Amino acid sequence: MSTANAAPDLYAVIGYPVKQSFSPFIHAQFARQTAQHLEYRKIEASPDELHGVVRKFFFETGGKGMNVTIPHKQAVMSLCQTLTPRAQLAGAVNTLALQGGALLGDNTDGVGLIADLTKNLQVHLRGARVLLLGAGGAARGVIAPLLAQALSELRIANRDAAKAIALAKQFQHLGAIDGGGYDNLQHEFDLIVNATAASLQGDVPPIPHSCVSARTLCYDMAYAKTDTAFTNWAKQRGAARAELGWGMLVEQAAESFYVWRGVRPDTDPVLKAVRSSALDPLTT
Ligand code: NDP
Repeated sequence: MSTANAAPDLYAVIGYPVKQSFSPFIHAQFARQTAQHLEYRKIEASPDELHGVVRKFFFETGGKGMNVTIPHKQAVMSLCQTLTPRAQLAGAVNTLALQGGALLGDNTDGVGLIADLTKNLQVHLRGARVLLLGAGGAARGVIAPLLAQALSELRIANRDAAKAIALAKQFQHLGAIDGGGYDNLQHEFDLIVNATAASLQGDVPPIPHSCVSARTLCYDMAYAKTDTAFTNWAKQRGAARAELGWGMLVEQAAESFYVWRGVRPDTDPVLKAVRSSALDPLTT
């Protein structure tokens, strides 16, 4: 049990790069709000350094938990002794926890996206036609939770179409899902979720204009203080709404915090705080 005088329990986010991460800010707010005694750091590690740095953090430095971000969400899986069912389904890990001397791998991205869409943004997903852009770690993490919402259709589009086709095959036992490139997308969608890294480069994926109507919600998992290239594009196309991924960021962090500490923070004030903080993740 930790006390105010004992060393704080140690947590971190690992990525490459990681300087853009808001996770230390968010977890510091959660810890203050729930009176948990912890410290949360940023650790930058290249793919070659990843396994050594993670082992050192948990088994030499005494770390208790880690968030995993771009580009390590799949590579970190082989370090885990146990994977939660949602991490197994996702084939990607964004949360590591040391439990009984062994590493547990979990994935809270899906819970985060669904909580933001349904709780914060009041979106009704049942029967919705959803287009998911991208086939990387973030996309993998949200497919099963999206299909669990009884969508009428989930279409995955990716630059490398073969990756989207393979992902759709992997999840086809869970619901109506299809994958491919951007060329043959024809009809409009109720929801378009951008899970590509294009916004980080100021790019918009080549989405046909016919996919967007005045009823479409365009959601960018990327988060910035101003519109991203994708939310700008969505507004210019007349989408009903264009939202950034701040809510998903805070909700997935809250779920990781719960996995580590067994306490659920209130996300509303923290979401307001990250939106109004001075940092800009796309430029800092
Ligand atoms: P990955 O590197 O695993 O995947 C990147 C994906 O983006 C691939 O499908 C890639 O396509 C595609 N892509 C990259 N550049 C472009 C481009 N210029 N045009 C079109 N497609 C492109 O990244 P992640 O999946 O981990 O992260 C993706 C995004 O999601 C990031 O912006 C990240 O910040 C955000 N994210 C946000 C979270 C939140 O809580 N809000 C949580 C997790 C992620 P290809 O396969 O063809 O190369």
